[in-house]
Parts: sequence; C-alpha cells; structure tokens
Amino acid sequence: MLLEDFKPLTRPPLVDPFGREISYLRISVTDRCDFRCVYCMSEDMTFLPKRDLLTLEEVDRVATAFVARGTRKLRITGGEPLVRRDIMNLFRSLSRHLASGALDELTLTTNGSQLERYASELAACGVRRVNVSLDTLDPDKFRKITRWGDLDKVLRGIEAARAAGLRVKINAVALKDVNEDEIEGLMSWAHGLGMDLTLIEVMPLGEIEPGRIDQFLPLSIVRARLMDKYTLDDDPYRTGGPARYVRVRETGGLVGFITPMTHNFCESCNRVRLTCTGTLYMCLGQEDAADLRAPIRASGDDTLLYRAMDEAITRKPKGHDFVIDRRRARPAVGRHMSVTGG
Ligand code: SAM
Repeated sequence: MLLEDFKPLTRPPLVDPFGREISYLRISVTDRCDFRCVYCMSEDMTFLPKRDLLTLEEVDRVATAFVARGTRKLRITGGEPLVRRDIMNLFRSLSRHLASGALDELTLTTNGSQLERYASELAACGVRRVNVSLDTLDPDKFRKITRWGDLDKVLRGIEAARAAGLRVKINAVALKDVNEDEIEGLMSWAHGLGMDLTLIEVMPLGEIEPGRIDQFLPLSIVRARLMDKYTLDDDPYRTGGPARYVRVRETGGLVGFITPMTHNFCESCNRVRLTCTGTLYMCLGQEDAADLRAPIRASGDDTLLYRAMDEAITRKPKGHDFVIDRRRARPAVGRHMSVTGG
C-alpha cells in the first residue's frame, strides 16, 4: 500500500464553536407524508419534485461520512419515512454501522401507518426502538388532526412493532382544546402497554391554516395537571434527544417533555438535520443551512463532503429563538417540520 493511500481509521469528531460534539444525525428521507397533520402541514402542500431528492445511496454516503466523524445515532424521519420507495434498502445498508460498532443506534420516527408492513424488517435491520407519533386515541379526532388518517391502521402498526420486539415510544403534540383532555388517557394507555410517552410543544414552523397561537399549550400546564393526580419523579433517563423525563410512580412508566417554547434545551444540543435534498440544517429553529448535495455530486471522493461538513458545523448557532405570540404573524421558520424532519 502506498503511503498516499493510507486513510486513518479515526477522523476527528465534529465539534461546534460552543464545544458541543455532534453525535446525532436526523435524516429526512422524504418531505411527503400520507397524513396532513393540521399543526404540521397545510392541506395543499406542494412537494418537492422527485428529481431533487438525494438517492438512497447518496443518503447512505452522507450518513456514513457523519458516522466516520463521530455520529453515534441516526434517526430516519420525514415526511413519513416509510412511504419513501425502497426505504428498507437504506435501513439494510445503514445497519452495517451497527454491526461494526461504529453506530449505537439506528432508529426512526413514523406515523405508524406503514409499520404493520415493515416492523419485522426494521427489527431485522437492527432497529430496536421506534417513535410513533400519535396525538389522540379517538378515531374521529384522529381523522380531524391528520385530515384523513385511519387510527386503526396505526394501532395495528404499533402492535406489529411490539410483536417484532421493537420498543415503541409514543410522541404526542400537546394541542390546546384538541387533545389536552386526553393526555392522561394517552399516558395510561401507553404505560399499560409498557410504552413511554413523550409530549411535545407545538413549534412555529411553516405557514399553516389555523393560527398556532390557538394550538399552543405550554407543557408546564400539562405537567401541573398531571401532578394533581400522579406523583412525578424526575428521571435521569435520556435517549440522546431533547426530552426530559419523569417517572410516574402510579403507572411505573416514563413521560418525556420536549419544551422548545417554554424551556430552551439548546445548551446540550448534539444534533444536526439532513433534508431529503441534501441540505444540512445545523438547528431546527434557524434558517441557516449548508448544501451537501453539491459536494457529493461533484466528486466520488469524500474530501469535498468532509470540507462542507466541517464548514457547516462552524456555523451551528447557539440556539433557536422560537416565539409564538399575537404580534408576530409569521412563523419563526418558513419551512414546515416535514421538510427538516421531526
Ligand atoms: N411522519 C413521521 C411522524 O409522524 O412521526 C415523522 C415526521 S413528523 C414531522 C415528526 C414529528 O414532528 C411528529 O411527532 C409530529 O407530530 C411533530 N411535528 C410536526 N410539526 C410540528 C410542529 N409544528 N411542532 C411540534 N411538533 C411537530
């Protein structure tokens, strides 16, 4: 072997200007979804032309470069990741990083609609945990929130995931006057089946029809209401994401709180997000981004890609500044959650 061919096995980790090591990459593999949740998308979304998307091989290449630079956790998201054609090819190929020990976790966030079909294959690819987004257990309300989703199909998907041995966490966005009366019911149901529940505050991402001020429900209120009936003990459990957990003494289960609006969690942010067109967002709540598609298409060698990644991380901001208030009519960030991936 020539000395020039020698590539060191360990590459320097990606560390941002605030000393935060980037160890978690979320990848949105499509901006399309089979639901249109009212807080997430407008009813008449325009989706990207398919030719603008990274191929799954290109997604794998970028993910692999991040793994080589210290990413230990990959989350596949969207849009709805399981509606992307041939998506299992990506899971299959990324699972080699689990087998090699380079990656601690390969996981996904899904609306559950396709889990019945894919749960066993996901488990076979080394996926151990899956986050399923579910805001209500009432079929009519579910149809209203998702604009046409079928709750039964999602529940069957969750069952299939559990049967395949996947650990399921339920993610629910807390929505004022919509599901705030159901949080306790969701918790009892989830904990009864051994699933944890994470609650999320609605974030001002993208233009949608109803005003977000009408949907926003601070989780401090939800927590206080739960404390009227339950004993919540702070729990050190972490998944590498932004949720902070309590264990409910009466049920034995965990409830996570993701509170970007009422409590900023940016100081420990270890994440960056890749969109399906190869744009890297260094923060969910800021517009600044880096194009990784051009460097991968410019060369089969990863030198340009690494250079673009390094440059992007120098621009990772300290944090977001989400605000939902009546004086600010526009969302903090123009793109919808389905673009950056939740
Ligand atoms: N389709 C998948 C799903 O439903 O989980 C993955 C993508 S979805 C955008 C990821 C998560 O973001 C979901 O839990 C969804 O409820 C949440 N979400 C979407 N828009 C949001 C917003 N504006 N504020 C807070 N959470 C949001």
